[in-house]
Amino acid sequence: MNHYECDLLVIGGGLAGFCAALSAAQAGLQVVVLEKTAQTGGSSAMSGGCLAFAGTDLQRSHGIEDSSQRLFDDLVDVGKGECDESLVKLYTDHQLETYQWLKDNGVVFADVIEAASGQSVPRVHNVDPADMVRQLQSAALATDKVEVWLHSRARRLLRNEGGRVTGASVERNGEQQHIMARSAVLLASGGFVQDRELIHRFVPQYDNAVFIGGEGNEGDGLRMAWALGADVRDLPYIKGTFGKHPMDEHNHHACLVVYKGAIAVNQDGRRFVDESQSYKLLGDAVMQQAFGVGYQILDQDIMDSGDNQVRILDFTRRLEEGLFIEAQTLEQLARLIEVPEDVLLAEVAAYNDAVRQGQPPEFGRQHLVHHHGQLRTLERPPFYAYPSTAAVFGTYCGVIVDSGLRVLDVFGEPIEGLLAAGEMIGGFHGAAYMTGSALGKAAVFGRLAGTRPGTASEG
Ligand SMILES: Cc1cc2nc3c(=O)[nH]c(=O)nc-3n(C[C@H](O)[C@H](O)[C@H](O)COP(=O)(O)OP(=O)(O)OC[C@H]3O[C@@H](n4cnc5c(N)ncnc54)[C@H](O)[C@@H]3O)c2cc1C
Repeated sequence: MNHYECDLLVIGGGLAGFCAALSAAQAGLQVVVLEKTAQTGGSSAMSGGCLAFAGTDLQRSHGIEDSSQRLFDDLVDVGKGECDESLVKLYTDHQLETYQWLKDNGVVFADVIEAASGQSVPRVHNVDPADMVRQLQSAALATDKVEVWLHSRARRLLRNEGGRVTGASVERNGEQQHIMARSAVLLASGGFVQDRELIHRFVPQYDNAVFIGGEGNEGDGLRMAWALGADVRDLPYIKGTFGKHPMDEHNHHACLVVYKGAIAVNQDGRRFVDESQSYKLLGDAVMQQAFGVGYQILDQDIMDSGDNQVRILDFTRRLEEGLFIEAQTLEQLARLIEVPEDVLLAEVAAYNDAVRQGQPPEFGRQHLVHHHGQLRTLERPPFYAYPSTAAVFGTYCGVIVDSGLRVLDVFGEPIEGLLAAGEMIGGFHGAAYMTGSALGKAAVFGRLAGTRPGTASEG
């Protein structure tokens, strides 16, 4: 069997993997990145390209006041106190320098956009996600210290007699080989959105959801870590994102008109949730409705408030694609979507009345999204409906790490030589999710994992 050696072995060629590879190479380490599929990118490249940072130049240019502390408070708030606060702190302590580092390494942030899920101020920094990964990969390769092996699937982790992880057994182009890592092995292999059986074990209520994500994201990293006794967190909080059109196979992103003021109704024409919540909680709520499908209902003013630079807010494109159902009156709209007319009219009237009187409508909605934005009435025709179910875009749970990103075993002891970053990690999001915090976590923790492989925790 062939043997090969490097300093840092990175398993997974997505955002976390390339941030780690680049930062490790910049620190002088020799790195090999393994990618099991034919191309790098994973879920990162197909994502919405929204990253959550706070206190940036882009925010300042829009007069948005934000800070690491505010980001911390929002992350803990949206996670419903279920997050590992030391991980959240690790993120908030290093997010701003990571934003700058990404820019210094050629990542282009187009703009900062309106507040989205879990944000009390606008802090989504938008990129072309495939370009971002390509750029980081090119920067890593340009150091001459990084190799990328495609069609190379890590199968098992290797340990020495003392129990330290020393490498991995890899299936490369159909052949087995060992690759040894002098400093550490980093699991950056994403989540397990492509393994329906594994998902069923933890959240069977999502069996009928739509699943979208990197084709190689089958939980390999999780299983390899489990085999070594790794502990896990957040498994019950796997959730789908609300706003996926159930019939649209071309556009895999969610459309969040609710965050611009739309209401969500079920097949009976009734509202069923506070629409300003994290879209993961909205995902849970829609899965409990008949057929797991509802409608986002809006008027022309809300339609006009979309942002075609941002996939989740690009209403115009969906309108052009014929995905919105349009009618001059709410009565007609109700007939088109086959919900009882009187119920839909009464729901919209009650909602509008509450908004006009400055009272929270039913379910306690107070803002457009999280603690941000004033509610709007729905009154200017035409009216629109966007059929919406939940799509599971990621698993957002995984192995427990310490603040040195070392994987911990079930007794809370570090598994020496084994690091994890990105969607592999549990504990960061807790019970729900802030837009931009998954790519953000891949970038921040990936970069940190590369700068100090195998070093002790920050405490
Ligand atoms: C449609 C969609 C939209 C999204 N939008 C956003 C967004 O706007 N903002 C946000 O914050 N998050 C978003 N997410 C979530 C986010 O994209 C992911 O959480 C994040 O990209 C994970 O990055 P990663 O580097 O950990 O994993 P990935 O980018 O998935 O990379 C993991 C890589 O590891 C490879 N791999 C797996 N197993 C092995 C193995 N055994 N050996 C070798 N390679 C292996 C995979 O093939 C894959 O290429 C979205 C996800 C999807 C699917």
